[in-house]
Amino acid sequence: MKPFLLTLLFIPILHSAFAQRALPDTLKTSLGPLTIQPIQHASLILTVQGITIYADPSNPDNYKGLVAPDIILVTDIHGDHFDLKTIEAVKKSSTVLVVPPVVADKLPDADKAHLIVLKNGDHTTQSGITIRAIPMYNLPESPTAMHTKGRGNGYVLDIGGKLIYLSGDTQGIPEMRSLKNIDVAFICMNLPYTMDVQEAADAVLAFKPRIVYPYHYRGNNGLSDIHAFKTLVEAGDKNIEVRLRDWYPAK
Ligand code: ZN
Repeated sequence: MKPFLLTLLFIPILHSAFAQRALPDTLKTSLGPLTIQPIQHASLILTVQGITIYADPSNPDNYKGLVAPDIILVTDIHGDHFDLKTIEAVKKSSTVLVVPPVVADKLPDADKAHLIVLKNGDHTTQSGITIRAIPMYNLPESPTAMHTKGRGNGYVLDIGGKLIYLSGDTQGIPEMRSLKNIDVAFICMNLPYTMDVQEAADAVLAFKPRIVYPYHYRGNNGLSDIHAFKTLVEAGDKNIEVRLRDWYPAK
Protein backbone atom coordinates (compact mmCIF):
# COMPACT_ATOMS: atom_id res chain seq x y z
CA MET A 1 0.00 0.00 0.00
CA LYS A 2 1.20 3.49 -0.78
CA PRO A 3 2.39 5.53 2.25
CA PHE A 4 -0.33 8.11 1.59
CA LEU A 5 -3.08 5.49 1.82
CA LEU A 6 -1.52 4.06 4.96
CA THR A 7 -1.68 7.51 6.55
CA LEU A 8 -5.36 7.82 5.66
CA LEU A 9 -5.94 4.44 7.28
CA PHE A 10 -4.40 5.50 10.58
CA ILE A 11 -5.97 8.95 10.94
CA PRO A 12 -9.30 7.63 12.31
CA ILE A 13 -7.45 5.38 14.78
CA LEU A 14 -5.31 8.24 16.09
CA HIS A 15 -8.34 10.49 16.27
CA SER A 16 -10.42 8.05 18.30
CA ALA A 17 -7.52 7.44 20.68
CA PHE A 18 -7.16 11.13 21.52
CA ALA A 19 -10.62 12.54 20.89
CA GLN A 20 -11.74 11.99 24.47
CA ARG A 21 -9.16 14.28 26.02
CA ALA A 22 -8.99 18.08 25.73
CA LEU A 23 -5.95 19.28 23.78
CA PRO A 24 -3.04 20.42 25.98
CA ASP A 25 -1.91 24.03 26.32
CA THR A 26 1.67 25.20 26.77
CA LEU A 27 3.13 28.05 28.80
CA LYS A 28 6.65 29.46 28.69
CA THR A 29 8.64 29.08 31.91
CA SER A 30 12.33 29.46 32.76
CA LEU A 31 12.54 25.64 32.90
CA GLY A 32 11.16 25.40 29.35
CA PRO A 33 7.62 24.95 28.06
CA LEU A 34 5.07 23.78 30.61
CA THR A 35 2.38 21.51 29.18
CA ILE A 36 -1.05 21.72 30.77
CA GLN A 37 -3.23 18.70 30.07
CA PRO A 38 -6.80 18.68 31.39
CA ILE A 39 -7.88 15.13 32.20
CA GLN A 40 -11.26 15.13 33.93
CA HIS A 41 -13.14 17.03 36.66
CA ALA A 42 -10.33 17.80 39.19
CA SER A 43 -7.64 15.80 37.41
CA LEU A 44 -4.91 17.34 35.29
CA ILE A 45 -1.31 16.76 34.27
CA LEU A 46 1.49 19.33 34.24
CA THR A 47 4.73 18.50 32.47
CA VAL A 48 7.92 20.54 32.31
CA GLN A 49 11.49 19.55 31.48
CA GLY A 50 10.64 15.86 31.67
CA ILE A 51 8.98 16.21 35.07
CA THR A 52 5.40 14.98 35.13
CA ILE A 53 2.94 16.03 37.82
CA TYR A 54 -0.49 14.45 38.21
CA ALA A 55 -3.05 16.37 40.26
CA ASP A 56 -5.85 14.39 41.86
CA PRO A 57 -5.55 11.42 39.47
CA SER A 58 -8.82 9.59 39.11
CA ASN A 59 -9.85 6.58 37.05
CA PRO A 60 -6.91 4.49 35.74
CA ASP A 61 -8.43 4.43 32.24
CA ASN A 62 -7.73 8.16 31.91
CA TYR A 63 -3.97 7.56 32.04
CA LYS A 64 -3.49 4.72 29.59
CA GLY A 65 -0.52 5.43 27.35
CA LEU A 66 0.58 8.50 29.32
CA VAL A 67 3.94 9.06 30.99
CA ALA A 68 3.97 7.95 34.63
CA PRO A 69 4.08 10.76 37.21
CA ASP A 70 7.17 11.92 39.08
CA ILE A 71 4.91 13.78 41.51
CA ILE A 72 1.29 13.16 42.48
CA LEU A 73 -0.61 15.92 44.28
CA VAL A 74 -3.72 15.03 46.25
CA THR A 75 -5.95 17.80 47.61
CA ASP A 76 -8.49 16.02 49.82
CA ILE A 77 -10.07 12.74 50.95
CA HIS A 78 -13.13 12.60 48.69
CA GLY A 79 -13.15 10.02 45.93
CA ASP A 80 -12.90 12.54 43.10
CA HIS A 81 -9.54 13.71 44.55
CA PHE A 82 -8.09 10.76 46.45
CA ASP A 83 -8.45 7.61 44.37
CA LEU A 84 -6.03 5.06 45.79
CA LYS A 85 -6.75 2.52 43.05
CA THR A 86 -5.66 5.03 40.41
CA ILE A 87 -2.61 6.16 42.39
CA GLU A 88 -1.43 2.56 42.67
CA ALA A 89 -2.11 1.98 38.96
CA VAL A 90 -0.24 5.02 37.63
CA LYS A 91 2.67 5.54 40.03
CA LYS A 92 6.20 4.26 39.59
CA SER A 93 8.52 3.29 42.45
CA SER A 94 10.10 6.76 42.58
CA THR A 95 6.86 8.78 42.43
CA VAL A 96 6.62 11.36 45.21
CA LEU A 97 3.16 11.76 46.77
CA VAL A 98 2.34 15.24 48.11
CA VAL A 99 -0.74 15.08 50.31
CA PRO A 100 -2.46 16.63 53.34
CA PRO A 101 -2.15 14.72 56.66
CA VAL A 102 -5.68 13.33 56.40
CA VAL A 103 -4.77 11.62 53.11
CA ALA A 104 -1.40 10.43 54.44
CA ASP A 105 -3.30 8.58 57.18
CA LYS A 106 -5.18 6.60 54.53
CA LEU A 107 -2.15 5.52 52.50
CA PRO A 108 -0.73 2.01 52.80
CA ASP A 109 2.75 1.77 54.34
CA ALA A 110 4.21 0.88 50.93
CA ASP A 111 3.40 4.41 49.71
CA LYS A 112 5.14 6.11 52.63
CA ALA A 113 8.70 5.81 51.28
CA HIS A 114 8.25 8.82 48.98
CA LEU A 115 5.65 10.79 50.87
CA ILE A 116 5.57 14.53 51.56
CA VAL A 117 2.87 15.59 54.00
CA LEU A 118 1.90 19.26 53.84
CA LYS A 119 -0.45 21.11 56.14
CA ASN A 120 -2.02 24.39 55.01
CA GLY A 121 0.85 26.90 54.79
CA ASP A 122 3.62 24.28 54.43
CA HIS A 123 5.77 23.98 51.34
CA THR A 124 8.22 21.59 49.73
CA THR A 125 10.54 21.71 46.74
CA GLN A 126 10.61 18.61 44.51
CA SER A 127 12.61 18.40 41.27
CA GLY A 128 13.07 22.18 41.39
CA ILE A 129 9.33 22.83 41.70
CA THR A 130 8.13 24.52 44.87
CA ILE A 131 4.72 23.35 46.07
CA ARG A 132 2.86 25.38 48.68
CA ALA A 133 -0.28 24.15 50.44
CA ILE A 134 -3.14 26.68 50.53
CA PRO A 135 -6.32 26.37 52.61
CA MET A 136 -9.51 25.15 50.92
CA TYR A 137 -12.83 25.09 52.75
CA ASN A 138 -16.52 25.93 52.69
CA LEU A 139 -18.06 29.11 54.02
CA PRO A 140 -19.38 29.74 56.56
CA GLU A 141 -16.78 27.71 58.41
CA SER A 142 -18.43 24.86 60.26
CA PRO A 143 -17.30 21.55 61.76
CA THR A 144 -20.03 19.87 59.70
CA ALA A 145 -19.11 21.51 56.38
CA MET A 146 -18.26 19.21 53.47
CA HIS A 147 -14.81 20.82 53.43
CA THR A 148 -13.59 21.93 56.82
CA LYS A 149 -10.75 24.42 57.12
CA GLY A 150 -7.36 22.77 57.58
CA ARG A 151 -8.26 19.34 56.20
CA GLY A 152 -7.55 19.59 52.47
CA ASN A 153 -4.96 21.52 50.49
CA GLY A 154 -5.18 23.76 47.47
CA TYR A 155 -1.71 24.16 45.97
CA VAL A 156 0.40 26.92 44.46
CA LEU A 157 3.25 25.54 42.35
CA ASP A 158 6.23 27.64 41.31
CA ILE A 159 7.29 26.10 38.02
CA GLY A 160 10.18 27.95 36.46
CA GLY A 161 8.98 31.29 37.81
CA LYS A 162 5.33 30.77 36.85
CA LEU A 163 2.79 30.37 39.65
CA ILE A 164 0.11 27.75 39.08
CA TYR A 165 -2.82 27.61 41.53
CA LEU A 166 -5.06 24.57 42.02
CA SER A 167 -8.03 25.59 44.14
CA GLY A 168 -9.13 22.16 45.33
CA ASP A 169 -12.69 22.15 46.72
CA THR A 170 -13.35 25.54 48.21
CA GLN A 171 -15.34 28.69 48.20
CA GLY A 172 -13.99 32.15 47.48
CA ILE A 173 -12.10 32.23 50.76
CA PRO A 174 -9.88 35.16 51.82
CA GLU A 175 -6.77 33.01 51.27
CA MET A 176 -7.73 32.66 47.60
CA ARG A 177 -8.75 36.27 47.14
CA SER A 178 -5.40 37.48 48.53
CA LEU A 179 -3.18 35.35 46.26
CA LYS A 180 -0.61 37.39 44.33
CA ASN A 181 1.00 37.04 40.90
CA ILE A 182 -0.81 33.85 39.90
CA ASP A 183 -0.17 33.03 36.25
CA VAL A 184 -2.59 30.15 35.86
CA ALA A 185 -5.51 29.31 38.18
CA PHE A 186 -7.70 26.21 38.16
CA ILE A 187 -10.93 27.17 39.92
CA CYS A 188 -13.71 24.86 41.12
CA MET A 189 -17.36 25.82 40.72
CA ASN A 190 -20.08 23.31 41.53
CA LEU A 191 -22.96 23.28 43.96
CA PRO A 192 -23.53 22.16 46.60
CA TYR A 193 -19.88 21.15 47.06
CA THR A 194 -17.94 24.33 46.36
CA MET A 195 -19.26 27.64 44.99
CA ASP A 196 -21.45 28.97 42.21
CA VAL A 197 -20.09 30.73 39.12
CA GLN A 198 -20.84 34.21 40.52
CA GLU A 199 -18.79 33.58 43.66
CA ALA A 200 -16.00 32.00 41.61
CA ALA A 201 -15.90 34.98 39.23
CA ASP A 202 -15.90 37.44 42.11
CA ALA A 203 -12.97 35.65 43.77
CA VAL A 204 -11.03 35.50 40.50
CA LEU A 205 -11.57 39.23 39.96
CA ALA A 206 -10.08 39.80 43.43
CA PHE A 207 -6.77 38.03 42.80
CA LYS A 208 -6.52 38.50 39.04
CA PRO A 209 -4.70 35.48 37.67
CA ARG A 210 -3.41 35.95 34.12
CA ILE A 211 -5.18 32.80 32.93
CA VAL A 212 -8.03 30.91 34.59
CA TYR A 213 -9.46 27.50 33.83
CA PRO A 214 -12.82 26.55 35.31
CA TYR A 215 -12.45 22.92 36.45
CA HIS A 216 -14.35 20.70 38.87
CA TYR A 217 -17.67 22.11 37.58
CA ARG A 218 -20.03 19.14 37.66
CA GLY A 219 -22.49 19.39 40.56
CA ASN A 220 -25.84 18.01 41.62
CA ASN A 221 -27.63 19.81 38.78
CA GLY A 222 -25.22 18.87 36.03
CA LEU A 223 -22.49 21.11 34.68
CA SER A 224 -22.15 24.67 35.94
CA ASP A 225 -22.52 27.46 33.39
CA ILE A 226 -18.84 28.10 32.68
CA HIS A 227 -19.79 30.43 29.81
CA ALA A 228 -21.54 32.67 32.36
CA PHE A 229 -18.37 32.52 34.48
CA LYS A 230 -16.29 33.63 31.48
CA THR A 231 -18.69 36.49 30.72
CA LEU A 232 -18.58 37.71 34.33
CA VAL A 233 -14.78 37.58 34.54
CA GLU A 234 -14.24 39.27 31.19
CA ALA A 235 -16.78 41.98 32.02
CA GLY A 236 -14.90 42.67 35.25
CA ASP A 237 -11.33 42.53 33.88
CA LYS A 238 -10.54 42.04 30.22
CA ASN A 239 -6.89 41.26 31.01
CA ILE A 240 -7.84 37.89 32.54
CA GLU A 241 -7.98 35.08 29.99
CA VAL A 242 -10.67 32.50 30.74
CA ARG A 243 -9.96 29.14 29.12
CA LEU A 244 -12.95 26.87 28.67
CA ARG A 245 -11.96 23.26 28.10
CA ASP A 246 -13.93 20.02 28.12
CA TRP A 247 -13.27 18.48 31.54
CA TYR A 248 -16.05 15.92 31.07
CA PRO A 249 -15.20 14.11 27.83
CA ALA A 250 -17.56 11.36 26.74
CA LYS A 251 -16.39 7.86 27.58
ZN1 ZN B 1 -14.43 17.45 44.66
